[in-house]
Amino acid sequence: MAKAVGIDLGTTNSVIAIMEGGEPTVLVNGEGGRTTPSVVAFKDDQRLVGQVAKRQAVLNAQGTLFEIKRFMGRTWEEVSDEVERAPYEVVKADDGGVRFKVGDELHSPEQISAMVLRKLVNDASEQLGQKITQAVITVPAYFNNAQREATQNAGKIAGLDVLRIVNEPTAAALAYGLEKKGNETVLVFDFGGGTFDVSVLEVGEGVFEVRSTHGDTHLGGSDFDYAIVDWLAKEFQAEYGVDLKKDKQALQRMIEAAEKAKIELSGLPETTISLPFIAMDPASNAPLYLEKKLTRSTFEDLIAPLLKRLRKPVEDALKDAKIDKSGIDEVILVGGSTRVPAVKAIVQEMLGKAPNQTVNPDEVVALGAAIQAGVLTGDVEDIVLLDVTPLSLGVETKGGVFTTLIERNTTVPVRKTETFTTADANQTGVEVHVLQGERSMARENKSLGKFKLDGIPPMPAGMPQIEITYDIDANGVLNVTSREKSTGKEASITIQNTTTLSEDEVERMVKDAESHAEDDKKFRELAEARNGCDAMRAQAVKIMDETEGATDEQKQPLQDAVDEAAKAVDDPNVDTDRFEELTKNLAEALQAFQQATAPAATETPEGEESAAEAASSEEDDVIDADFKPAG
Ligand code: AMP
Repeated sequence: MAKAVGIDLGTTNSVIAIMEGGEPTVLVNGEGGRTTPSVVAFKDDQRLVGQVAKRQAVLNAQGTLFEIKRFMGRTWEEVSDEVERAPYEVVKADDGGVRFKVGDELHSPEQISAMVLRKLVNDASEQLGQKITQAVITVPAYFNNAQREATQNAGKIAGLDVLRIVNEPTAAALAYGLEKKGNETVLVFDFGGGTFDVSVLEVGEGVFEVRSTHGDTHLGGSDFDYAIVDWLAKEFQAEYGVDLKKDKQALQRMIEAAEKAKIELSGLPETTISLPFIAMDPASNAPLYLEKKLTRSTFEDLIAPLLKRLRKPVEDALKDAKIDKSGIDEVILVGGSTRVPAVKAIVQEMLGKAPNQTVNPDEVVALGAAIQAGVLTGDVEDIVLLDVTPLSLGVETKGGVFTTLIERNTTVPVRKTETFTTADANQTGVEVHVLQGERSMARENKSLGKFKLDGIPPMPAGMPQIEITYDIDANGVLNVTSREKSTGKEASITIQNTTTLSEDEVERMVKDAESHAEDDKKFRELAEARNGCDAMRAQAVKIMDETEGATDEQKQPLQDAVDEAAKAVDDPNVDTDRFEELTKNLAEALQAFQQATAPAATETPEGEESAAEAASSEEDDVIDADFKPAG
């Protein structure tokens, strides 16, 4: 089979690697670099990619596109911060996305990313003397569907067959774990130019299992740069009354100088930023110089609010993996921003151990992607890669209740079947409403799709056995099937990418569930009480209908209890206590009815339930308004 490469398509830099002689190996670019800046420039009909594009950015601020990954698969509304910061022109596209305007030309984020991919692959092909057509591309764990699709499309535009989109921290652990033998729990702290991810993984014996992931898609090393830029601009404005941020070229020069200073401060206690001829003095028309000393401690003050944001994702990832810091065997750093001493210090302080420094943070993701490419093309054997579901998956059951089939953070692939039943007699169809989320109320969760299963033979309520199966494959594709057991009739739906949600979305939904835990408990109790009352009512009606020779007088008290229950079930103002009371009344009336109508000397044999007891002990859920889970 043809060789496939692994590509880390980074916000700031990209890396390409391949399996060579059983080892993942980084391929150098045409300029001899192991990393290629993810930068594309347009200049006098010329298109420049990588280092050459980055080098001329200052003189061509509006024609140099960088940090394109922040725009991938996102709508105009989602990127207002990025648009404001960019020294190049970003416009809203007809499809609601964004385009970069350079001269008269418009370019999509996918097209620009494709140019970076093409450069990586062309240079690699040249080095290998072999055409490359297949690739595995990595993305941050919290990229949502649209962002992953955009990445996949960038690959297609570049003429590549994208074998798989892999999460960056998973790739890192893959590269790290390949040479490891024993089982270990690893925390991957991935802090690059544009995004921050934390993942907890089980690594060992060829199996990689992601236990949890959290992160922040709006936090990266370039935020450190902008913090310095803001400081520089403010100081300059105070001194000279000129807003440097208004001048695109000055802004670009400040961004570059800020990044350089930041990198220097990883090794030095202080540095000087100097930008000659940065502006003209409006009064004298004389050129103005920017010259500022920046100490590491001032830098750390400037980025303090950003550093603070690194903590919660770490705490959340540990919490979801159900371990504390002592359960982490190894901490892996990924991404250039982990070289900032204050970042390393936070990692060490939070996790109580020094991070593993044996893996190169810039290359480890691409190496892992190359291994994954090797797995997919059969070059590498004995490795299974497992991901997790970021949110619970379930179905809507009677009373608008969300019934979970697959819990959040369950390892995929996974398959789970549960049996449900109907709520009404002679019900010939059920609607299966597939949802994702952590709330008890179905309507508060995210609807993924609905489908109908028809052709159920007429039967009393609660008789049909309807099996619902949730099956998520390794790519996160969910297939839901419902099957009525007596006829074998089936219906199904396929939902793409259930393991890929935006971090914001996951975070919002989990937080939402936490803050509404009490309401949700009440809601669930009410729904259960209402459903229990309704089940008892249906049972009473059935028994009344089936009891031959019962007189109106014998029926009346039970009929009254039935009518009262029916009214209450339709009344949204009835509370849990009232439903419990009505259920008790029904049970008593039913028992009295059965005693009155029972043939003489017939008692319920010991060990067997009476119908009333059977009905009152029923605890089955019911799928949607006309559909319920069987026992
Ligand atoms: P990545 O996305 O992993 O390529 O990370 C790139 C980010 O790391 C950029 O924001 C760089 O400025 C930053 N970076 C690279 N080297 C260093 C360093 N030595 N100290 C601080 N930041 C760095």
